[in-house]
Amino acid sequence: MAERKRWGMVIDLDRCTGCQACVVACQAENNIPLNTPDIVLQARSIQWIRVERYWSGIDENDPAKVKVGYLPVLCVHCTNAPCEPVCPVYAAYHNPEGLNVQVYNRCVGTRYCANNCPYHARYFNYWEREWPEPLNFQLNPDVTIRSKGIMEKCTFCVQRIRRAERRAKFEGRTVRDQEFTTACAQACPTGAIVFGNLADPSSLVSQLAKDARHYRLLEHLGTEPGVYHLKKVDPNYQGAEKSR
Ligand code: SF4
Repeated sequence: MAERKRWGMVIDLDRCTGCQACVVACQAENNIPLNTPDIVLQARSIQWIRVERYWSGIDENDPAKVKVGYLPVLCVHCTNAPCEPVCPVYAAYHNPEGLNVQVYNRCVGTRYCANNCPYHARYFNYWEREWPEPLNFQLNPDVTIRSKGIMEKCTFCVQRIRRAERRAKFEGRTVRDQEFTTACAQACPTGAIVFGNLADPSSLVSQLAKDARHYRLLEHLGTEPGVYHLKKVDPNYQGAEKSR
């Protein structure tokens, strides 16, 4: 693998079945707090990756015609990240590997970054979260638990990146393509999510990003996302009529 890094992801919508395994894996890997019903009702749940649903072919007289398309959305680690320049304390910054990083102990909770993120990918901790026993035993020791007043979002499982780099350094080599991946990609039963180094033209993620179906969310904003989606192929597609 090339030395230069630009970590990125490709999500194949033709493979996504909307099962939410990526969501559950992310919650467990990254110590994301429980989204209890009262928190969901207040629209203050935290979910670093979400699966949006788009419906087409809605016909009240023929429910069998209804089709659904799934769109997993997470922080796309923009190259030109709108969340970064608005942070007054530099808690949101860009690292040399293309990661949009959040420094938790620098964050003062202005939430400007969340307001400026066009992907709605940032989440604020309105409360001190708790994990009642025995759920506390499943907390990942490699991931910081965020406290009240702190902004958080997808890190591309940076703890896994660092672990792979440490192992490679110990063994006197560079990190190999696909020797590790993010929790969401690992849990996906259809292999819809692929993670890797976009700066390495031979990596799987780079190859997939060149697929004819590729596009990037809200690309017209000039954010240069590090996440590519591959369009779902449906020859009978009539256009999205309703989403929720
Ligand atoms: S998707 Fe949102 S949070 Fe992520 S880098 Fe872009 S602007 Fe920042």
